Amino acid sequence: MNNKGILIIISGPSGAGKGTVVEELKKDTNYMLSISATTRAPRKNETDGVHYFFKTAEEFEKMIDDKKLLEYASFCGNYYGTPVDYVNEKIENNKEVILEIEVQGALQVKKIYPDAVLIFLTPPSMGELRKRLEGRATETPEKIKMRLDRATEEFGIIDKYDYIVINDSVENAVENIKCIVKAEKMKAYRNLNLKSVLKGDILNA
Ligand code: 5GP
Repeated sequence: MNNKGILIIISGPSGAGKGTVVEELKKDTNYMLSISATTRAPRKNETDGVHYFFKTAEEFEKMIDDKKLLEYASFCGNYYGTPVDYVNEKIENNKEVILEIEVQGALQVKKIYPDAVLIFLTPPSMGELRKRLEGRATETPEKIKMRLDRATEEFGIIDKYDYIVINDSVENAVENIKCIVKAEKMKAYRNLNLKSVLKGDILNA
């Protein structure tokens, strides 16, 4: 089998439950999560270098200038971006690398890595999304509105994604994502090295 990892992009509106699903996937040591840089202020439970690399706008713009980011986007007034070195190193070492990023960034990555697998995680309904956002109480009502508006925009481009996974329960969503990755790893074009190995076996038989 091919020994390169797969780049898995998980997008979806705020409140879709991406964080919880990704935490569950990370329990499997084959999956690594890329830690993004952002100019957003840390939430109460967030630690620098664990949840994000928290940066000032100047620091972030220097990362852009120094070509340290694989992609970046502006989301609800803040920059978010993926540090490039980590992703390349893990993929070369046969790890599945998860990027939990919004849609603009996801489309940028797909252009650079056409083999990346784009998964859109969605809650069962918009009503459920609003309930989850209000329930977690990490944002002000204005910020919640911005995020819901942004969610509507994001739903508009889900046809650019390879898969849609409904997060009706974390367990189901994780199982479905693992199924997708398993099937992706068996795609013929990812395993063309087997052609010469099998041919060699036939000749030696
Ligand atoms: P939050 O502020 O809720 O942590 O994240 C807001 C949005 O930014 C989410 O949709 C999240 O997936 C996205 N995001 C987080 N990191 C990155 C990144 O490195 N690049 C891009 N393009 N989006 C990101």
